[in-house]
Amino acid sequence: MAIKPRILYIEDNPENRLLVQRILMAEGFELLTADSGAAGITLADKERPDLILVDINLPELDGYSVTARLKNIPHLARVPVIALTANVMKGDKEKTLAAGCDGYIQKPIDVDQFPRQLARFLEKAQTL
Ligand code: MN
Repeated sequence: MAIKPRILYIEDNPENRLLVQRILMAEGFELLTADSGAAGITLADKERPDLILVDINLPELDGYSVTARLKNIPHLARVPVIALTANVMKGDKEKTLAAGCDGYIQKPIDVDQFPRQLARFLEKAQTL
């Protein structure tokens, strides 16, 4: 992990992007954002972040498709992709894992827990 972990957040909702930006900046993370799946894939390919957060409910290319495409990019294969979803329906967690996500965080984001959740995913990726 870099001293300042670089997180890419793919999210179409500007309020969510602002909230995550505020939380992560305060915790010393570096944040890149993309407002669509296609933009997120391009940015991930170019910047190779330490971790990618993907909103599942994205217009056009949804988070499952985005994750599958990210996992097909060889130099991103080891970058953890964490799904963010507001859906609490049974089977959602399984669906994100089936799509290739390395983890799952439920919306709404818990401001206090969020940085720790990310740190845990980053540590886990380090020990692979
Ligand atoms: Mn969304």
